[in-house]
Amino acid sequence: QAKDAGRDRYQLFDPEAERRAQAQRSELQRLQQAYEAGEFVLFYQPKVELAEGRLTGAEALIRWQHPERGLLPPGEFLPYLPGSALELLLGQWVLEQAWDQAARWHAQGQALCTGVNISAHELLAPGFATRLAATLARHPGVPPALLELEVLESAAIGDMTQAVAVMRECRSLGVRFALDDFGTGYSSLSYLRQLPVDVIKVDQSFIRNMLASPSDLEIVVGVIGLARAFHLEAVAEGVETLEHAQTLRRMGCQLAQGYGIARPLPLASFEAWRAQWQGLPAA
Ligand code: C2E
Ligand code: MG
Ligand code: MG
Ligand code: MG
Repeated sequence: QAKDAGRDRYQLFDPEAERRAQAQRSELQRLQQAYEAGEFVLFYQPKVELAEGRLTGAEALIRWQHPERGLLPPGEFLPYLPGSALELLLGQWVLEQAWDQAARWHAQGQALCTGVNISAHELLAPGFATRLAATLARHPGVPPALLELEVLESAAIGDMTQAVAVMRECRSLGVRFALDDFGTGYSSLSYLRQLPVDVIKVDQSFIRNMLASPSDLEIVVGVIGLARAFHLEAVAEGVETLEHAQTLRRMGCQLAQGYGIARPLPLASFEAWRAQWQGLPAA
């Protein structure tokens, strides 16, 4: 009998799972060091009005300037963060950096709306709205509507009541919310109705394929119609070509972001891009 119990215990030890957990812990430690060493940077991707191409804002996107591996996109390191304390620290850092930048643009007479991605864990962590209020107070003269928090539908799925309450509290401070990657998650009409958002961002996968795939085109048409029906702004993500931009313009989509307009850029390059941007060609 003792032998059987021993065998059962032995089976509970899964060396593969243990190895993964260890790798996860050491990666998280490395990310904590990177945070302390100031190795994270924000890039900014322009967001333009499709009618003429006027610049209306920028989405802040995090990068890791790794000393040996070079510039790493968020897909390389964000997956290690969910649920960690570092996720909250880094999220707060992004928020402050982006809001400081929005304030600098505002001081230059540029009303650029700055988008910041917020994870589910950040949104639902105790005190998020209080920290947001404190962040906004760094620049009391800047309209909070210049800050747009981008959340995924999945951020709300776990605890809809709590998510809606926090979003309402944040919105009462004056910030706006965008539903990111719309169409890839649950995209249920009841979520859209309940979530206090101002903007829908149509996921880039639909835009990328819409000229070749009639069903993706229909999804884009549908989401833009949905935005209109709910009085929300529609932003197309992943606009890679002039043809994408023109098709979206004809559909009545107001705003666009994508490599065809500009890639996410370090601040200095963003400013250089802005100085020479001529808008989108007509027709
Ligand atoms: P997202 O918020 O949906 O951001 C858009 C992503 O699409 C960015 O990838 C951007 O570089 C990319 N993109 C923009 N235009 C095009 C295009 O025309 N073609 C293609 N193929 N891609 C395009 P990135 O920077 O790698 O970020 C990936 C995701 O990581 C973001 O998706 C967002 O969910 C997350 N993320 C980025 N920065 C932060 C952050 O500061 N905090 C949090 N919580 N998440 C972030
Ligand atoms: Mg986003
Ligand atoms: Mg997106
Ligand atoms: Mg995304």
